[in-house]
Amino acid sequence: MPRDAHTISRKQISENALKVLYRLNKSGFKAYLVGGGVRDLLLGIEPKDFDVVTNATPEEIKKLFRNCRVVGRRFRLAHIVFGRDVIEVATFRGHHGESNEKVSKANAEGRLLRDNVYGEIDEDAERRDFTVNALYYDISDYSIRSYGGGMTDLKAGTLRLIGDPETRYREDPVRMLRAVRFATKLNMGIETVTAAPIKQLAPLLKDIPAARMYEEVLKLFFAGKALANFELMQEYKLFAPLFPQVAALLKDDPKGTTMKMVQAIMKSTDQRVNEDKPVTPSFFYAALLWYPLRQRAEDIAVESGLTLYDAFFAAMGDVMEQQCQTISIPRRFSTPAKDIWQLQLRFDRSQGTRAFKLMEHPKFRAAYDLLLLRGEVEAGNVAKSAAWWQQFVEADETERLAIARSGTKSPNRNRNATQRRRRPRAPNADGSAATSAPKTSGTPKAKAAE
Ligand code: ATP
Ligand code: MG
Repeated sequence: MPRDAHTISRKQISENALKVLYRLNKSGFKAYLVGGGVRDLLLGIEPKDFDVVTNATPEEIKKLFRNCRVVGRRFRLAHIVFGRDVIEVATFRGHHGESNEKVSKANAEGRLLRDNVYGEIDEDAERRDFTVNALYYDISDYSIRSYGGGMTDLKAGTLRLIGDPETRYREDPVRMLRAVRFATKLNMGIETVTAAPIKQLAPLLKDIPAARMYEEVLKLFFAGKALANFELMQEYKLFAPLFPQVAALLKDDPKGTTMKMVQAIMKSTDQRVNEDKPVTPSFFYAALLWYPLRQRAEDIAVESGLTLYDAFFAAMGDVMEQQCQTISIPRRFSTPAKDIWQLQLRFDRSQGTRAFKLMEHPKFRAAYDLLLLRGEVEAGNVAKSAAWWQQFVEADETERLAIARSGTKSPNRNRNATQRRRRPRAPNADGSAATSAPKTSGTPKAKAAE
């Protein structure tokens, strides 16, 4: 497709990407912008990044750019670094002929462990995932090359995997997640043949290295389409292999509290992303794993005879560790996630003058946000507690003092989380301590009025 037959102009391409393209081209190599950059520009979406592909090998690229690092094992790539901006430059991939272990390797399920066979552009196109990702913008004449009907599919809004879908998913099961992500991001439909094997092959995701999965999960849930991605993942059975502990609860009670919580997290994450507010994996994982944590704590308490309070602390380690087997959550997020969990226990015990102290905790805001979500999905006592805190947090300084002083908590209650749920928030009107709190008593408003 020559320059005058498409809409992409150089003005839309980042200066750094252009520099890389031109330098490669002037040095006698072929150089194309490829993948998401081309696809998004044609769709009128601002690309997240610009990827370049060339016939120069990583070593040849390194010689051309002082600011170049060669990275990756599974795929060797060159990163050209411009301050915080990195342009990824790949070398055309070729077919895997007679296998040489050093350059290409697959496991028993057909997953490619190494893919460093170099080739020509048409081979490279066949190794890409979707036809709409096999679009190449040629810097030498500003034309676009489309392979496997990429341009037609782009116009029709069709996501079609290149080649035999089952083979391609076995080579790299992450492509199933990419199908979901592109479908929601680009508002496209997954073509029938491409969609057909997903449900059955979904369990292959368990074998993906947890570090890679962490990155994929960020792309799925932190880009403004979390709820849509969650729903489509559920449809294709892709959620359970990533979050087995959450999935177990969803299976027990598909419309229950856990489901409401997952939906609430996804919605609120989307809202924050769309408002350009920061989102953090610590909050996301703390909230997502909150009910699995409660469940695990109860199980431990029953099995070991520990109080629920103590079992809760044991469960925190267990639940996080188990999640990290599929998705390796960096410690800088898993540690604060545990703080967010612990603070949930303190909310009930700190309604009163202790509330000021709790507010100073660095994770207070995130923990408070989780409390609000829990209040939304659980109602009952949690909603009451959430309402008390909301009133306290939203008040000005002087009002806060009054609210704290009228706080209904006695300081040493609720060491045990079971008791916390069963005991009433305050003594009965006649001063006697009630033994059980009616579940539906007190709307948030009633609580606020107390
Ligand atoms: P975005 O950057 O918006 O997530 P993208 O399509 O650019 O989308 P990248 O992960 O940046 O996705 O990959 C760049 C290109 O590399 C893709 O467009 C595709 O052609 C190819 N590619 C990426 N991952 C795979 C994969 N798992 N299998 C085959 N090809 C892939
Ligand atoms: Mg990209």
